[in-house]
Amino acid sequence: MPGHRGAGGGTPAGVTAARAPIDKGARVDVVVPGARLVILGKQGAGKGTQCVRLARHYVVPHISTGDMFRAAVKMVTEFGRRAEEYMNAGELIPDEVVIGVVRERLEQDDTVRRGFILDGFPRTVHQAVTLTAFLAPRGVDLAIDLEVGTEMVLRRLAGRRVCQTCGTNYSVAAKPKHGWTCDYCGGDVVQRDDDTEAAILRRLKLYEEQTAPLITWYLEQDRLVAVDGMGSPDEVTSRLTRAIDRRRHERGLHG
Ligand code: AMP
Repeated sequence: MPGHRGAGGGTPAGVTAARAPIDKGARVDVVVPGARLVILGKQGAGKGTQCVRLARHYVVPHISTGDMFRAAVKMVTEFGRRAEEYMNAGELIPDEVVIGVVRERLEQDDTVRRGFILDGFPRTVHQAVTLTAFLAPRGVDLAIDLEVGTEMVLRRLAGRRVCQTCGTNYSVAAKPKHGWTCDYCGGDVVQRDDDTEAAILRRLKLYEEQTAPLITWYLEQDRLVAVDGMGSPDEVTSRLTRAIDRRRHERGLHG
Protein backbone atom coordinates (compact mmCIF):
# COMPACT_ATOMS: atom_id res chain seq x y z
CA MET A 1 0.00 0.00 0.00
CA PRO A 2 1.43 3.40 -0.89
CA GLY A 3 2.35 5.90 1.79
CA HIS A 4 -0.22 8.55 2.45
CA ARG A 5 1.45 11.91 1.85
CA GLY A 6 2.17 13.31 -1.57
CA ALA A 7 2.92 11.50 -4.80
CA GLY A 8 6.41 12.84 -5.21
CA GLY A 9 6.41 15.75 -2.80
CA GLY A 10 4.52 18.38 -4.73
CA THR A 11 2.84 19.42 -7.91
CA PRO A 12 4.71 18.39 -11.04
CA ALA A 13 4.91 21.35 -13.37
CA GLY A 14 3.29 20.80 -16.72
CA VAL A 15 1.55 17.47 -16.13
CA THR A 16 -0.63 17.30 -19.18
CA ALA A 17 -2.17 14.60 -21.30
CA ALA A 18 -2.88 14.86 -24.99
CA ARG A 19 -5.73 12.97 -26.59
CA ALA A 20 -5.73 12.23 -30.28
CA PRO A 21 -8.82 13.01 -32.36
CA ILE A 22 -10.60 9.78 -31.56
CA ASP A 23 -14.08 8.37 -31.91
CA LYS A 24 -14.48 9.52 -35.49
CA GLY A 25 -17.98 8.11 -35.64
CA ALA A 26 -19.17 10.72 -33.15
CA ARG A 27 -21.75 13.00 -34.71
CA VAL A 28 -21.47 16.51 -33.42
CA ASP A 29 -23.25 18.64 -35.98
CA VAL A 30 -23.63 21.72 -33.87
CA VAL A 31 -21.03 23.44 -31.74
CA VAL A 32 -21.89 25.61 -28.77
CA PRO A 33 -18.63 27.26 -27.72
CA GLY A 34 -17.82 27.76 -24.06
CA ALA A 35 -18.86 25.77 -20.98
CA ARG A 36 -17.60 24.83 -17.55
CA LEU A 37 -18.62 21.26 -16.93
CA VAL A 38 -17.83 18.53 -14.44
CA ILE A 39 -18.71 14.94 -15.26
CA LEU A 40 -19.36 12.50 -12.43
CA GLY A 41 -20.09 8.79 -12.62
CA LYS A 42 -18.67 5.44 -11.66
CA GLN A 43 -15.55 4.11 -13.33
CA GLY A 44 -16.74 2.49 -16.55
CA ALA A 45 -19.82 4.70 -16.89
CA GLY A 46 -18.53 6.01 -20.23
CA LYS A 47 -17.21 9.37 -19.01
CA GLY A 48 -14.07 9.24 -21.17
CA THR A 49 -15.93 8.54 -24.40
CA GLN A 50 -18.62 11.11 -23.71
CA CYS A 51 -16.17 13.79 -22.58
CA VAL A 52 -14.33 13.62 -25.92
CA ARG A 53 -17.65 14.25 -27.68
CA LEU A 54 -18.75 17.01 -25.29
CA ALA A 55 -15.36 18.70 -25.62
CA ARG A 56 -15.94 18.93 -29.37
CA HIS A 57 -19.52 20.07 -29.02
CA TYR A 58 -18.72 22.86 -26.56
CA VAL A 59 -15.24 23.56 -28.04
CA VAL A 60 -13.53 23.23 -24.67
CA PRO A 61 -10.52 21.25 -23.48
CA HIS A 62 -11.22 17.83 -21.99
CA ILE A 63 -9.26 17.68 -18.75
CA SER A 64 -8.96 14.13 -17.44
CA THR A 65 -6.93 13.81 -14.26
CA GLY A 66 -6.57 10.06 -14.86
CA ASP A 67 -5.04 10.76 -18.32
CA MET A 68 -2.74 13.38 -16.81
CA PHE A 69 -1.47 10.94 -14.19
CA ARG A 70 -1.09 8.14 -16.74
CA ALA A 71 1.02 10.53 -18.88
CA ALA A 72 3.19 11.24 -15.82
CA VAL A 73 3.60 7.49 -15.23
CA LYS A 74 4.79 7.03 -18.82
CA MET A 75 7.39 9.76 -18.36
CA VAL A 76 8.92 7.63 -15.56
CA THR A 77 9.48 10.60 -13.26
CA GLU A 78 9.61 10.29 -9.48
CA PHE A 79 6.15 11.87 -9.41
CA GLY A 80 4.88 9.35 -11.98
CA ARG A 81 6.31 6.44 -10.01
CA ARG A 82 4.56 7.54 -6.82
CA ALA A 83 1.30 8.25 -8.67
CA GLU A 84 1.43 4.77 -10.21
CA GLU A 85 1.53 3.14 -6.78
CA TYR A 86 -1.72 4.84 -5.81
CA MET A 87 -3.35 4.12 -9.16
CA ASN A 88 -2.47 0.44 -9.33
CA ALA A 89 -3.73 -0.05 -5.78
CA GLY A 90 -7.02 1.62 -6.79
CA GLU A 91 -6.36 4.38 -4.21
CA LEU A 92 -6.95 8.10 -4.66
CA ILE A 93 -3.94 10.35 -5.08
CA PRO A 94 -3.87 12.82 -2.15
CA ASP A 95 -6.10 15.88 -2.55
CA GLU A 96 -3.35 18.48 -2.32
CA VAL A 97 -1.41 16.88 -5.18
CA VAL A 98 -4.43 16.54 -7.47
CA ILE A 99 -5.67 20.04 -6.69
CA GLY A 100 -2.27 21.51 -7.56
CA VAL A 101 -2.20 19.73 -10.92
CA VAL A 102 -5.75 20.77 -11.84
CA ARG A 103 -5.27 24.33 -10.70
CA GLU A 104 -2.20 24.68 -12.90
CA ARG A 105 -4.18 23.38 -15.89
CA LEU A 106 -7.17 25.67 -15.23
CA GLU A 107 -4.88 28.69 -15.19
CA GLN A 108 -3.88 28.11 -18.81
CA ASP A 109 -5.20 30.45 -21.45
CA ASP A 110 -7.55 28.05 -23.29
CA THR A 111 -9.48 27.07 -20.17
CA VAL A 112 -9.66 30.63 -18.89
CA ARG A 113 -11.11 31.85 -22.22
CA ARG A 114 -13.32 28.96 -23.27
CA GLY A 115 -13.95 26.77 -20.24
CA PHE A 116 -13.45 23.04 -19.75
CA ILE A 117 -14.91 19.66 -19.17
CA LEU A 118 -13.44 18.05 -16.09
CA ASP A 119 -13.34 14.25 -16.09
CA GLY A 120 -12.28 12.47 -12.89
CA PHE A 121 -12.07 15.68 -10.87
CA PRO A 122 -13.41 16.54 -8.36
CA ARG A 123 -13.52 13.16 -6.65
CA THR A 124 -13.91 14.30 -3.04
CA VAL A 125 -16.02 17.03 -1.45
CA HIS A 126 -12.80 18.80 -0.46
CA GLN A 127 -11.71 18.90 -4.13
CA ALA A 128 -15.15 20.27 -5.13
CA VAL A 129 -15.11 22.99 -2.47
CA THR A 130 -11.61 24.03 -3.55
CA LEU A 131 -12.62 24.06 -7.22
CA THR A 132 -15.66 26.23 -6.53
CA ALA A 133 -13.56 28.71 -4.55
CA PHE A 134 -10.96 28.80 -7.31
CA LEU A 135 -13.62 29.49 -9.96
CA ALA A 136 -15.61 32.03 -7.92
CA PRO A 137 -17.85 33.84 -8.53
CA ARG A 138 -19.17 31.81 -11.50
CA GLY A 139 -18.05 28.34 -10.37
CA VAL A 140 -18.91 25.47 -12.70
CA ASP A 141 -22.00 25.71 -14.90
CA LEU A 142 -23.10 22.16 -14.24
CA ALA A 143 -22.05 18.84 -12.78
CA ILE A 144 -23.41 15.88 -14.72
CA ASP A 145 -24.05 12.55 -13.05
CA LEU A 146 -23.73 9.91 -15.75
CA GLU A 147 -25.81 7.08 -14.31
CA VAL A 148 -24.93 3.43 -15.04
CA GLY A 149 -25.62 0.48 -12.71
CA THR A 150 -22.80 -1.33 -10.88
CA GLU A 151 -23.36 -4.64 -12.69
CA MET A 152 -22.91 -2.96 -16.07
CA VAL A 153 -19.78 -1.00 -15.09
CA LEU A 154 -18.17 -4.18 -13.72
CA ARG A 155 -18.81 -5.88 -17.05
CA ARG A 156 -17.49 -2.89 -19.00
CA LEU A 157 -14.34 -2.50 -16.89
CA ALA A 158 -13.43 -6.19 -17.20
CA GLY A 159 -13.60 -5.87 -21.00
CA ARG A 160 -12.08 -2.40 -21.32
CA ARG A 161 -8.92 -1.94 -23.38
CA VAL A 162 -7.16 1.34 -24.04
CA CYS A 163 -4.57 2.66 -26.49
CA GLN A 164 -1.37 3.32 -24.56
CA THR A 165 -0.45 6.18 -26.88
CA CYS A 166 -3.58 8.24 -27.53
CA GLY A 167 -6.03 6.97 -24.90
CA THR A 168 -8.69 5.73 -27.34
CA ASN A 169 -11.03 3.31 -25.59
CA TYR A 170 -11.83 -0.13 -26.99
CA SER A 171 -13.30 -3.28 -25.48
CA VAL A 172 -13.11 -7.01 -26.07
CA ALA A 173 -16.49 -6.62 -27.78
CA ALA A 174 -15.37 -3.64 -29.93
CA LYS A 175 -11.75 -4.34 -30.84
CA PRO A 176 -9.50 -2.35 -33.15
CA LYS A 177 -9.63 -3.45 -36.79
CA HIS A 178 -6.14 -5.02 -36.86
CA GLY A 179 -5.20 -7.02 -33.79
CA TRP A 180 -4.58 -4.91 -30.70
CA THR A 181 -3.20 -1.94 -32.65
CA CYS A 182 -4.98 1.38 -32.36
CA ASP A 183 -7.06 2.30 -35.45
CA TYR A 184 -6.12 5.98 -35.10
CA CYS A 185 -2.47 6.15 -34.06
CA GLY A 186 -1.08 2.61 -34.35
CA GLY A 187 -0.30 2.45 -30.62
CA ASP A 188 -0.59 -0.73 -28.55
CA VAL A 189 -4.07 -1.40 -27.16
CA VAL A 190 -3.83 -2.96 -23.71
CA GLN A 191 -5.70 -3.51 -20.46
CA ARG A 192 -5.11 -0.70 -17.97
CA ASP A 193 -2.84 -1.69 -15.07
CA ASP A 194 -5.55 -0.56 -12.65
CA ASP A 195 -8.31 -2.60 -14.35
CA THR A 196 -7.51 -5.67 -12.23
CA GLU A 197 -10.43 -7.13 -10.28
CA ALA A 198 -8.99 -6.06 -6.89
CA ALA A 199 -8.28 -2.48 -8.02
CA ILE A 200 -11.69 -2.18 -9.72
CA LEU A 201 -13.52 -3.25 -6.53
CA ARG A 202 -11.41 -0.84 -4.45
CA ARG A 203 -12.12 2.05 -6.87
CA LEU A 204 -15.86 1.38 -6.87
CA LYS A 205 -15.86 1.27 -3.05
CA LEU A 206 -13.98 4.58 -2.94
CA TYR A 207 -16.44 6.01 -5.46
CA GLU A 208 -19.35 5.23 -3.12
CA GLU A 209 -17.52 6.57 -0.07
CA GLN A 210 -15.79 9.65 -1.44
CA THR A 211 -17.28 10.63 -4.79
CA ALA A 212 -20.99 9.74 -4.55
CA PRO A 213 -21.45 12.43 -1.79
CA LEU A 214 -20.52 14.98 -4.46
CA ILE A 215 -23.80 14.27 -6.19
CA THR A 216 -25.69 15.49 -3.12
CA TRP A 217 -23.25 18.38 -2.76
CA TYR A 218 -23.79 19.64 -6.33
CA LEU A 219 -27.55 19.05 -5.97
CA GLU A 220 -27.58 21.33 -2.92
CA GLN A 221 -25.75 23.95 -5.01
CA ASP A 222 -28.45 23.56 -7.71
CA ARG A 223 -25.73 22.59 -10.18
CA LEU A 224 -26.55 18.92 -10.80
CA VAL A 225 -28.15 17.18 -13.75
CA ALA A 226 -28.52 13.38 -13.86
CA VAL A 227 -28.33 11.66 -17.24
CA ASP A 228 -28.99 8.01 -18.06
CA GLY A 229 -25.70 6.52 -19.33
CA MET A 230 -27.21 3.32 -20.75
CA GLY A 231 -27.61 2.87 -24.48
CA SER A 232 -25.46 3.55 -27.53
CA PRO A 233 -22.77 6.25 -27.31
CA ASP A 234 -24.77 8.41 -29.78
CA GLU A 235 -27.94 8.12 -27.68
CA VAL A 236 -26.06 9.07 -24.52
CA THR A 237 -24.37 12.04 -26.24
CA SER A 238 -27.64 13.51 -27.41
CA ARG A 239 -29.23 12.96 -23.98
CA LEU A 240 -26.26 14.78 -22.44
CA THR A 241 -26.25 17.79 -24.77
CA ARG A 242 -30.04 18.18 -24.43
CA ALA A 243 -29.85 18.10 -20.63
CA ILE A 244 -26.83 20.40 -20.44
CA ASP A 245 -28.21 22.94 -22.92
CA ARG A 246 -31.58 23.05 -21.14
CA ARG A 247 -30.00 23.70 -17.75
CA ARG A 248 -27.50 26.23 -19.08
CA HIS A 249 -30.29 28.02 -20.94
CA GLU A 250 -32.34 28.24 -17.71
CA ARG A 251 -29.33 29.79 -16.01
CA GLY A 252 -28.70 32.27 -18.86
CA LEU A 253 -25.35 30.68 -19.75
CA HIS A 254 -26.15 29.43 -23.23
CA GLY A 255 -23.76 30.25 -26.10
P1 AMP B 1 -9.47 7.52 -13.81
O1 AMP B 1 -8.83 7.35 -15.15
O2 AMP B 1 -10.30 8.77 -13.71
O3 AMP B 1 -10.23 6.28 -13.37
O4 AMP B 1 -8.28 7.73 -12.75
C1 AMP B 1 -7.28 6.75 -12.57
C2 AMP B 1 -6.64 6.91 -11.20
O5 AMP B 1 -5.99 8.19 -11.11
C3 AMP B 1 -7.59 6.87 -10.02
O6 AMP B 1 -7.93 5.54 -9.64
C4 AMP B 1 -6.77 7.60 -8.96
O7 AMP B 1 -5.74 6.78 -8.45
C5 AMP B 1 -6.11 8.70 -9.78
N1 AMP B 1 -6.95 9.92 -9.83
C6 AMP B 1 -7.52 10.47 -10.94
N2 AMP B 1 -8.23 11.57 -10.61
C7 AMP B 1 -8.12 11.71 -9.27
C8 AMP B 1 -8.65 12.64 -8.33
N3 AMP B 1 -9.46 13.67 -8.71
N4 AMP B 1 -8.33 12.48 -7.02
C9 AMP B 1 -7.53 11.47 -6.61
N5 AMP B 1 -7.01 10.55 -7.45
C10 AMP B 1 -7.29 10.65 -8.76
